[in-house]
Amino acid sequence: MLDAASPWAPLLPSARRVTLEVLLHGPLARSELADRLGLSTASLTRLTKPLMDAGLLREVETPSLRGGGRPLQPLDVDPDVQRFIGIKLAGFRAYGVLTNLRADILGSATAEITDQSPEAVVARIAELVDELDDRARPVAAIGIGIGAVVRDFSRVQRAVFLHWGEVDLGAAVARATGRPAVVSNDLDALMEAEHWFGDGRDVQSFAVLTIGAGVGGGLVVHDHLVSGPDSGLGLLGHFPIDPLGPSCPEGHRGCVKALLTTDAIQSQAALTLGRPVTYDEVLDLAEAGDQVADQIVGRAAHAFGTLIAAVANIAQPERIILTGEGIRLAQVAEARVRAGITQARHAEASPIDLRFINDDPTLWARGAAAVAIQRTVLAALPPRTA
Ligand SMILES: [Zn+2]
Repeated sequence: MLDAASPWAPLLPSARRVTLEVLLHGPLARSELADRLGLSTASLTRLTKPLMDAGLLREVETPSLRGGGRPLQPLDVDPDVQRFIGIKLAGFRAYGVLTNLRADILGSATAEITDQSPEAVVARIAELVDELDDRARPVAAIGIGIGAVVRDFSRVQRAVFLHWGEVDLGAAVARATGRPAVVSNDLDALMEAEHWFGDGRDVQSFAVLTIGAGVGGGLVVHDHLVSGPDSGLGLLGHFPIDPLGPSCPEGHRGCVKALLTTDAIQSQAALTLGRPVTYDEVLDLAEAGDQVADQIVGRAAHAFGTLIAAVANIAQPERIILTGEGIRLAQVAEARVRAGITQARHAEASPIDLRFINDDPTLWARGAAAVAIQRTVLAALPPRTA
């Protein structure tokens, strides 16, 4: 997917590794970088020279740690060397962001989707790309995140919310925009953004759990995203929690979806209160001390705690990140989430390092951009044995 004008195109694998290390952990002093890569400082100097000439790496000034000494000049990537666009595709809207090489958001835009046919959606994506492109730097690649099973970073198998069967979205977007396009499952994309540039950057293993219209889970183990042919099906959603709980549409009694989705919580509350209520109203009522709402929210929070503990018990991640458009539940009733966790953990088990990330559509669009960045940076990396 690299074109000849890309600064990555001519790089040898060894030079690419240097750049990747600095991208993920920079700025780094030359001595530290050499240590991390197991290189002599002489080899490192030889490798970094062309990278600096190509504009990928640069020296950044920092004041000397010991007063009076020569200022340190650690190496860092120039994050502005290229731009990336990330797009999160929902049923009726596409959310887009423009980012730099470190997935920092530089701009955002949205487009309404009124016609869900693949041709019309691709046309809206192309318009969004045109709107986001600041023309200051070249857009190296476009990432698209979608709540579906995706093959080969291009082919969407089936997207229920858009009424799509198989669609080769990557090829269609590349044709419409003239740029490389990388399609991935939206949760996988969010995981990769946290892995390289976010809360998962400093650990070897972490899990992300999202709650909202659906419930999703992802895992990075030994620095790799765990994925398989069923990634994107939302398998965690049917994990059993409460054998006496309500049933999900697929008939599982007390599965995660039956207990924790915004729909499940809303309909339980509507049934008990005898009137339709929104998800946020239920949470507001619980916060204000309404006993009925508080009981429903408390039960869901406890179930969420049970799920978090199950993930921690099975996968033993160093950290668990919680997000999704329904995550306010865990903030309103955090004590009961933690009680649910404690009840399902070994008494001597380490406390779980929990992080909350506020959900926002740009978070998911940034995930899509992060995958485009990864594919651009890693595209020419040889197999790990080399
Ligand atoms: Zn179920």
